[in-house]
Amino acid sequence: MSTQIWTRLDYDRPGKQVGHLHLPHSVHRSAYGNIVIPLGIVAGGKGPTLLLTAGTHGDEYEGQIALTKLLRNIDPKSVNGRLIVIPMLNAPAARAGMRTSPIDGANLNRAFPGDPLGGPTAAIAHYVSSVLFPMADAYQDIHAGGSSLDYLPFVSVRQSGDADLDARAMAAARAFGAPLIQVWGYSPDPRLSTAESNRQKIVSLGGEFGGGGAVSRRGLAIVERGLERLMAHLGIMAPLDESPPPPALEVEVQGRDHYVYAEADGLFEPLADLGESVLAGQPCGNVHDPDDPLRPAALHLFRRDGMLVCRRHPGQVRRGDCLAHLAAPRRG
Ligand SMILES: [Zn+2]
Repeated sequence: MSTQIWTRLDYDRPGKQVGHLHLPHSVHRSAYGNIVIPLGIVAGGKGPTLLLTAGTHGDEYEGQIALTKLLRNIDPKSVNGRLIVIPMLNAPAARAGMRTSPIDGANLNRAFPGDPLGGPTAAIAHYVSSVLFPMADAYQDIHAGGSSLDYLPFVSVRQSGDADLDARAMAAARAFGAPLIQVWGYSPDPRLSTAESNRQKIVSLGGEFGGGGAVSRRGLAIVERGLERLMAHLGIMAPLDESPPPPALEVEVQGRDHYVYAEADGLFEPLADLGESVLAGQPCGNVHDPDDPLRPAALHLFRRDGMLVCRRHPGQVRRGDCLAHLAAPRRG
């Protein structure tokens, strides 16, 4: 079964086109209706194709803003190759400001490679996997922590196991010029967008550029500048007139012990800050129960050494929520 998603745009036409993908969605108020997903195509010359997506999670905003500005401002005459730009890939989730789709409850970044006959989220994943990835030489899916997490901004690479592909992805990540590069050496879930793009041997980057359901000025600046450098690295744009950015700090996440999970319901009092280097056994935070003031706080400790790159944003926690995760210096 092929995709039912359609567009009036032509992926092979030179110039700048901005329009929509149409995902047929027949509901009570609109029998022959569509979910529309904004799409931009900017093409010229014979260079490579770069696919850029944001809004895979709808409550992560730096990438959505960066890709919106890119589409608005880019001069197609400056492009050698092709950009395929989707600022709010899971459009129903992005319109609702939610991580997951309010239509089917699904998480697009746990839906790959997708299903053309599944719900809207699965159908979007399938379109990316079966139509967009085969056109792409390089791909970046831009994230942040969303409503529940805060991230120290970084560009990321997910290890694919293919040494040549991983080396090309690291070169692209270094060219991106973020101050921090995180390598996901531990990401067992095969349903991520970058897991599927790795399977299709596409040079792939991710990145987390803020969080808390807000917009980080610093994260947005890093991603905007990084996209320009990435396009120059790929030969799609002319090199930037700048001195090279300082080398990034390179860190990696290699196992479950990098994460701290809540072992009680209550209110999370963090005891370490983003960017802080911590030691195994050091306090990560307390969980208090204001409903039972005399009950001792549940103290949560880091399980290993590392740098705090991600922390829970809301004060309320339930048992099982992720309170924090660390990254360790890259082993090379
Ligand atoms: Zn995300």
